[in-house]
Amino acid sequence: MDFQQIKRNNPIESVVVKYLGEANKDDWWWCPFHKEESPSFHLYERNNQKRFKCFGCKAQGDVVDFIKKLFDIGTREAMTKLTNTTFEPAPPPRGNVKTKIPAPVNLKKRTIKYHAQVSNSIAQAYWSSQGVTPTAIDHFKLGWAPRCPTLPVKYEGNTASVTIPYLNQGAVTNLKHRLIVPNGYGKYRYETKGLKNQLFNLDTLYREEEFEYLLPSELLIIEGEIKPMVVDYINGFRAIGIPGASSWQTQWASLIPKEKIKQIYIGLDPGVEQDIINKIAADLHGQGFAMNILSLLCKPDDMFVRYGANASDFMAIIKQSRKYGG
Ligand SMILES: [Zn+2]
Repeated sequence: MDFQQIKRNNPIESVVVKYLGEANKDDWWWCPFHKEESPSFHLYERNNQKRFKCFGCKAQGDVVDFIKKLFDIGTREAMTKLTNTTFEPAPPPRGNVKTKIPAPVNLKKRTIKYHAQVSNSIAQAYWSSQGVTPTAIDHFKLGWAPRCPTLPVKYEGNTASVTIPYLNQGAVTNLKHRLIVPNGYGKYRYETKGLKNQLFNLDTLYREEEFEYLLPSELLIIEGEIKPMVVDYINGFRAIGIPGASSWQTQWASLIPKEKIKQIYIGLDPGVEQDIINKIAADLHGQGFAMNILSLLCKPDDMFVRYGANASDFMAIIKQSRKYGG
């Protein structure tokens, strides 16, 4: 038997379909080698050869490896099985590792797909109403989706959403949907299960160009996603966003590079409890940052978009901020 000949005669895509059935949406299969909660088995190409890989249990290989592992047999038996014309169904899935595996969704690919649809008129109207300019839409790779994948099937109402990726040095670490017409299932939803709250716009810490209104060693921390877009990219103040002040996590303080940032200004929305503000300030101060707390009369994006403030108005508020700690 010629090993290469057998592989050529048995393309892995048809062998996998033969034993595992058709793939789910987006070419993912339930892995036959471990128990899982979402499909993590897929095919990919390396050196012009298709191979399988499971993102859950890390099993991978070519078509012969697949058969060996599926039936728990040796190479010679696997090759015999591939040349046999009679079909023998695969044994039931193995393993009892009950672990939560985030769905292996390629967030970058999805981000690009949604961004390509952002010329949709609903999306354009939405972003424009929020004061997000066309160049900012491009910079933040914002998008539009006809339906968020985690929206329940039974959801009734307008399924369209705008999409907000979390970019960090070329990677997409999170992808959120904001329903255009929320209808009882949460205004904001994740692209896939398993994603969690993160700081928004960490990418700005690694941008080369200087900001017009803050020193390179200064950073503003505000809330949300649209606010940092407006304050940071559009108005020239380096800013990251906490997705809701009460979602703050102590370990986030260590995500800010100390060699780069020395001074942090916190500008949370009016109405955020003093305890929460103090907690965030204390965590950051504990990491060695000099801290100042801004007192805002309205949300910072509203200041610019709704009330027509300009950068020097905002700079005046920063200059009047209260120093935290000793
Ligand atoms: Zn697996």
